[in-house]
Amino acid sequence: MNQALVKTQNYLTEIPNMLTGDKVLLVTSSSFITRGHADNIGKQLGQLRPAVELTICQPVKANPELTLLNQLHEEHHNTHFTDVIALGGGSVMDSAKALSYSLLNLHVSLAQALNNAALTEPDHLNLICIPTTSGTGSEVTPFATIWDSESQTKLSLNGVCADHIIHDLTLTLTLPKTETLYSALDALSHALESIWNVNRTPNTQDIAEQSIALICKWLPVALTEPENLTARENLQYGALLAGLAISQTKTALAHAISYPLTLKFSMPHGLACSFTLAALLKHVKSDELKLSTKLADSIINLLHSLNLIDYVNQYATNDQVINAIKGQLDPSRAGNFILPINDDMLKNILIESLMH
Ligand SMILES: [Zn+2]
Repeated sequence: MNQALVKTQNYLTEIPNMLTGDKVLLVTSSSFITRGHADNIGKQLGQLRPAVELTICQPVKANPELTLLNQLHEEHHNTHFTDVIALGGGSVMDSAKALSYSLLNLHVSLAQALNNAALTEPDHLNLICIPTTSGTGSEVTPFATIWDSESQTKLSLNGVCADHIIHDLTLTLTLPKTETLYSALDALSHALESIWNVNRTPNTQDIAEQSIALICKWLPVALTEPENLTARENLQYGALLAGLAISQTKTALAHAISYPLTLKFSMPHGLACSFTLAALLKHVKSDELKLSTKLADSIINLLHSLNLIDYVNQYATNDQVINAIKGQLDPSRAGNFILPINDDMLKNILIESLMH
């Protein structure tokens, strides 16, 4: 994996230098198309790379579905794209990863590639990721999460990494409050999940702790002062560090708990994977995790101040949450958790997490 990261306050000027050919697919969300970003990319390329043909993909929604990605593949597989640009959050980047793989490997279906552990660093089209949220860290991870709501399963494409990353913090200034909250909580969850993880190393522990310190300090500031550049920059960096940590360890129990909730109730990923963090942290104990009391306390204080249960209950009642998770844990993620898991322990974690 060889990734180049560029930090800028004008992502448009960086794109032309990163392209490898003239047929470019832009994957983004409807809000960035509405706000004129797709047009601006087209204009910039028209001036600096007039031979480039830019195709704007049908907008991607949250939690990308396999059926939509198959449909996009059918729509675009005859174009022989050279490059894929992802401008958006985790769902956009995950969709772009899937398309950068499927639009090059025309002899295999995307469904065959998903959940294939043997797939390591498969060939894919040159992929430029421009994250607009500070959370998933998808720009630095080799994973893409794809959903199949028909069969109620969560699938994963492994091994496709961005070739180029552009961090433009001005893109995050307009992120609405709940998206700022949920994406930072996803990053906090990634950092903690890499620590209570059987695959942790001194290096992942170190970068995860740096990430936690940044998120605990700067999330409250970004929530009250959305245009605070320092807060946005530090959250973006915190999310990147957490993404690097889970690139090595993968996620664990909090993510395993989240998937049935997203599948059944469309609960946003960052919320579904974070409302259990405080209870899990108390359960595994900070000295077991080699976390300082100061850092552990700042995590607990932040999580308690956010009243996440009020947000969870907008999607599901407490009983629905508990019932949805029974027997539904993804073993590949739950198995990374540092302690043994049983039904009683899981129920206690959920009950404690759901108490006001
Ligand atoms: Zn996550």
